[in-house]
Amino acid sequence: MKTLCAALLLLLTSPSFAQVVAIRAGTVVDPAHGGSAKDQVILVENGKIKAIGAGVAIPAGAEVIDLSHEWVSPGLIDAHSHMTLTEIAGGAPFESFYLNQSSTLRGLRGLHNAASVLQAGFTTLRDVGNSAEWAMSDVRRAIDSGWFDGPTIIDSGKIIAPFGGQSRDIPPRQGPFWQFEYIDADSPAEIRKAVRTNIYYGAGVIKLVADNNPYHYSIEELRAAVDEAHRAGIPVAVHVYAGDALENAIEAGVDSIEHGFDLTDAQLKRMKDKGIFLVGTDFPRAHLDIVGTSGGILPEPAVLAPKIIDRLTRAHRIGVRMAFGTDTVIDMPGRTRADLMFDYLAVWRVAGVPPIEILRAMTSNAAELLRVNKQRGSIGAGLSADLVAMPADPLNDIENLRKIDFVMKNGKIVRRPQIH
Ligand SMILES: [Zn+2]
Repeated sequence: MKTLCAALLLLLTSPSFAQVVAIRAGTVVDPAHGGSAKDQVILVENGKIKAIGAGVAIPAGAEVIDLSHEWVSPGLIDAHSHMTLTEIAGGAPFESFYLNQSSTLRGLRGLHNAASVLQAGFTTLRDVGNSAEWAMSDVRRAIDSGWFDGPTIIDSGKIIAPFGGQSRDIPPRQGPFWQFEYIDADSPAEIRKAVRTNIYYGAGVIKLVADNNPYHYSIEELRAAVDEAHRAGIPVAVHVYAGDALENAIEAGVDSIEHGFDLTDAQLKRMKDKGIFLVGTDFPRAHLDIVGTSGGILPEPAVLAPKIIDRLTRAHRIGVRMAFGTDTVIDMPGRTRADLMFDYLAVWRVAGVPPIEILRAMTSNAAELLRVNKQRGSIGAGLSADLVAMPADPLNDIENLRKIDFVMKNGKIVRRPQIH
């Protein structure tokens, strides 16, 4: 018995024992290169894609997954999420949720949302703050530890902003309570310290809010953020709508402009020339009607909705690189968080962006912005096996992404098609 146990232990711990999964894929969609290939075999071993091709032999003993009637795509990426945040509808101040939701509750909400959007096909999230006291960093740790199935999380830690975070007109008696989820940083030196603080706590992206108040970040301040983050190999994402602050962000060479609702054609061209991504968070009108002005942070829905479509149309025409980012922070009865994230597809369609380019923004482009493109964001040998599949062609109708019924993350199958 002892010998048998020892032999079994040796077998289980031997590197050669790794279970190979072979996926028979009807069509593999390749957003990075714009094509698709029929009747492919994808071999997955140790969490990675070992081989892909029409003539790849399936090794004896491999678990075979039959997706021969499905379209297989790289796993989806949302480059602008706030998994721990649900805004309180009905015109409540933006700060309301600071007062009655602890960091622990926020973390549990984030874990719940992250787990649910993985089931829908989002295998990677870039979560850009508003996560209380680094709650999303702990969600990342819990998922990375294997305690829960969830997407790969790249989180920003606390948002860095000039004094006041995204609050306005808080009476002095209340104190700077926005520091629950913002770091006030009002000089290049303070910005460097804030960047280092977030990196210390595990941030994989630095998020700044540049223009929430009449005062806004200078070129020198933004350059300090870029310099400090880039030396640690981390990109900088800047929330900014318009004007001088936007000019400064482009000039400072940030990695992405978040929102950019009032971007001019000239600014879009400069972003294109400098390789700066637009993460447009292109809100559908129905969502804006729920969130309203978010306590004065956003323009009125009737103004903002057409502006977003116009800006997205121009960005696409000019050829700025775009990564899909939703900024979903609302709930709707009977609909999942992922349902709401997929609502953004309609805005992209209305703006005239073809399905292949939308899918590219959700996969390989986003992976490049997140600096994970050597690990994920496309399907190829050596990359992490982040795969989704659906029973209809997303390049024919991008809304078919809503039908995703197979999800694999880092080689682990977390959702399988129902057998009818
Ligand atoms: Zn946001």
